[in-house]
Amino acid sequence: MSQPRSRIAIIGGGPGGYEAALVAAQLGADVTIIEESGLGGSCVLTDCVPSKTLIATASLMAAMEGTSDLGIRFDHEPGEPGEPGGFGRQPDQRGAAGGSLARADAPRIYSHARADAPQIYSRIRDLARAQSADVAKRLAAEGVRVISGRGRLARRGVVAVGDTEIQADTVLVAAGAHPRVLPTAVPDGERLLTCRQLYDLTELPSELVVVGSGVTGAEFACALQALGSQVTLVSSRQHVLPNEDADAAMVVEDVGQRRGMSVLGRSRAVSASRTADGVEVCLEDGRTVRGSHCLLTVGMVPSTEGIGLAESGVGLDARGFVAVDRVSRTSTPGIYAAGDCTGVWMLASVAAMQGRIAMWHALGEAVQPLRLRHVAATIFTEPEIATVGVSQQDVDTGVVGARVEKLPLATNARAKMDGFGDGFVKLFTRRNTGIVLGGVIVAPRASELILGVSLAVEQQLTVDEIAHTFAVYPSLSGSVTEAARRLMQPAEPL
Ligand SMILES: Cc1cc2nc3c(=O)[nH]c(=O)nc-3n(C[C@H](O)[C@H](O)[C@H](O)COP(=O)(O)OP(=O)(O)OC[C@H]3O[C@@H](n4cnc5c(N)ncnc54)[C@H](O)[C@@H]3O)c2cc1C
Repeated sequence: MSQPRSRIAIIGGGPGGYEAALVAAQLGADVTIIEESGLGGSCVLTDCVPSKTLIATASLMAAMEGTSDLGIRFDHEPGEPGEPGGFGRQPDQRGAAGGSLARADAPRIYSHARADAPQIYSRIRDLARAQSADVAKRLAAEGVRVISGRGRLARRGVVAVGDTEIQADTVLVAAGAHPRVLPTAVPDGERLLTCRQLYDLTELPSELVVVGSGVTGAEFACALQALGSQVTLVSSRQHVLPNEDADAAMVVEDVGQRRGMSVLGRSRAVSASRTADGVEVCLEDGRTVRGSHCLLTVGMVPSTEGIGLAESGVGLDARGFVAVDRVSRTSTPGIYAAGDCTGVWMLASVAAMQGRIAMWHALGEAVQPLRLRHVAATIFTEPEIATVGVSQQDVDTGVVGARVEKLPLATNARAKMDGFGDGFVKLFTRRNTGIVLGGVIVAPRASELILGVSLAVEQQLTVDEIAHTFAVYPSLSGSVTEAARRLMQPAEPL
């Protein structure tokens, strides 16, 4: 006789929820996702995907800023209309089919790059919707049932959505998180904004005050500066990105300031309010900062209220995050949790892994508990900061004994050709064995370059093994193998 299918109910359709659903469906379970806003979750609809889409445009704008050093000039002739966002394009260069070459006798008129905010925002919204639709299609193809509405734990083994009850052998809570709001700086969606409200504007903020210099604040500050906003970044700590590699944070701060960003260190914002034509942010020391708009990035809070968690005996920490172990179990048997609502590490990749691990565990598969030491992460600033494994702080505080090599990219031939000199590759290796324990890369597209280091950490490769690996010449990844070569130690004399 065949076994009855295991019934899984998942609250939340972000990466924590939908990736879990795909694994559970693959293992033959009967899976239901309950989602109140849209599949893909905040990750796809309001946070990760929209912000990275904005940053894609901003990075291109930033790259164009440095083109004169590379021998490219864009002459501006006042009075001649440039197309919105039509960087360096001659007005008559685009034929009806969109690609014809300019006539030889056509006047050479170029326009400066300028962000076309409505086009940027609408591209972001369209892309997010398309990504959400792709997730929906994939779930449907795997036979996952999706219920729209707000789910809550009704009683043991039952999730309720309005009057509908879903019986479940296992419940996964993947309810995510939302931006923290300060009572003295309440967003209005027009001038005082959370990171989720930015794309509803109709224009680019002319003077943007960003409150908070963590990952979200730093990413938006860099992106909007590149797009043409005059940005003031208000940081309560001495430097931006206070929880990241200090060398990397300094590069981002230096580059930002060189490009005209104003960074106010050791400046705690106590309130933000609207003025007649903009915003005013008051600092703890009595100073005020004015701008056209204010972006509030002061942390995220878990979306765990009012969904029956405490009533079901699920343990929450003091800030409301669901307490889980490394296989995503909560304190209540049969209830698992994944993603931002657990506060373990607010990354889409971690949410997805926690969700998958929960399903493998619940459905009796062999499972490797979550290993946070191996998480590769990127901060999408200008330049990007990518990290994996142990940190400089671990080394400096003696938590880990490691040798460190930091190689500036200024001497890398490819970096010179591409016209940038900011950034570095840093490797951490175990003292005696030379096993790679972690790394930091600060560079354009560091998010792509970190894979080599990530693979080394995962597979416990040594610096000798990396040093003997071919890198392309010229390439930025050549600096990874070069850093490894510098960490090679001569063999002990016999
Ligand atoms: C601005 C920004 C940029 C980011 N960029 C990156 C990045 O570049 N890379 C990265 O890895 N991470 C990034 N993140 C983090 C990433 O977005 C989150 O880690 C990820 O979304 C977490 O996934 P999740 O499934 O836990 O939650 P979410 O994606 O938040 O999904 C949770 C879903 O649950 C639904 N829900 C909540 N309660 C209920 C309920 N009771 N009933 C039904 N549905 C419910 C919500 O509607 C939501 O759709 C970023 C975050 C922000 C804010």
